Amino acid sequence: MTITPLMPVYPRCGVRPVRGEGCYLIGERGERYLDFASGIAVNLLGHGHPALVKAIADQAATLMHVSNLYGSPQGEAFAQKLVDKTFADTVFFTNSGAEAVECAIKTARRYHYVNGTPEKTKIISFANAFHGRTLGTISATNQAKMRDGFEPLLPGFEVVPFNDLEAARAAVDDTTAGFLVEPVQGEGGMTPSKQEFLRGLRQICDEKGLLLILDEVQCGYCRTGKFFAHEHYGITPDIMAVAKGIGGGFPLGACLATEEAAKGMVIGTHGSTYGGNPLAVAAGEAVFDIAVNEAFLANVTKMGDRLRQAIEQMMPNHDTVFDSVRGLGLMIGIKLKDSADARGFVAHLRDNHGLLTVAAGENVVRILPPLVIEESHIAECVEKLSAGARSFQPASS
Ligand SMILES: *Cc1c(COP(=O)(O)O)cnc(C)c1O
Repeated sequence: MTITPLMPVYPRCGVRPVRGEGCYLIGERGERYLDFASGIAVNLLGHGHPALVKAIADQAATLMHVSNLYGSPQGEAFAQKLVDKTFADTVFFTNSGAEAVECAIKTARRYHYVNGTPEKTKIISFANAFHGRTLGTISATNQAKMRDGFEPLLPGFEVVPFNDLEAARAAVDDTTAGFLVEPVQGEGGMTPSKQEFLRGLRQICDEKGLLLILDEVQCGYCRTGKFFAHEHYGITPDIMAVAKGIGGGFPLGACLATEEAAKGMVIGTHGSTYGGNPLAVAAGEAVFDIAVNEAFLANVTKMGDRLRQAIEQMMPNHDTVFDSVRGLGLMIGIKLKDSADARGFVAHLRDNHGLLTVAAGENVVRILPPLVIEESHIAECVEKLSAGARSFQPASS
């Protein structure tokens, strides 16, 4: 037998973390890494945040799981907080981002079903999007590496170019249910939607009775300096998928919707055994109570500006490696020159400079620090990026 006990679907690197301390990860041999990957935009309070740890420990000792057969005082309280701070009137809790997107897709189809337009099933999504790894969510992307060998996929999806409003408009027909879009594409390359694109999608939905579904699994939850990224665009969705940062590291996701959009989601239409159990909700509430307020968000914006400016200042010194910088708040992408491969550079930063980042599409290095970073972490990150660029030997040169 040569297959590993862990199904070998990940290209796991040599870092083998055993402990986390704030913005640092500590490996098996005691080596320290500055963690500007945050478990892919998840650990927004860093590692071992005392309030989050205590909330989880206390709740685990009190009540961990009961199923959704029973009333949920914990879930009701947290859902109310989310409703009070967003466009939404109702929340379905999930265990992951893909499940939140699945719930969003189901909610949209049910809406048209109970609305007397059951033929409206098609979801229009966008090139380079990432919505998760379930059969439904891989049906909503055009990325071959995620789709090959898993066909037949779900019918009722059409992928058009991102940030191309006319292509989106042209794809709408009598069978269209709505649009599914990331306000800032994460895996695809840290690309923000253009203002006129996201606003235009909202307008098309309003004109034609379609639903705007936002996937804020990566860009949401305070990462861009707003609670949700769509607030930068002055629009609201009808349905929104949330996960990653919401639990601060505890597996939790949520599908938020307006009362109108959720009108088909009645008793018996959807469910999850674990979804929103008391332990997950305790983690969610602890993160919410720390992060979802003006002072915290203002600090994310400030740190995002500082980090971006520091990166921009350093870039011209290494113009064979760095091309440009993009993103919003603490969701920053550094696009590399064609001669420098992002995966290779991420590995180099990790192995030789103790800095953890994540590669994304379009040859981009993703900088996704915990949202609690301080000036010293920014300085350390930029120092490591600069030293890394100096010592980097692009494979092709
Ligand atoms: C990570 C991600 C998902 C999937 O989340 P999982 O928790 O891995 O299922 C969906 N959409 C976006 C935008 C993501 O970044």
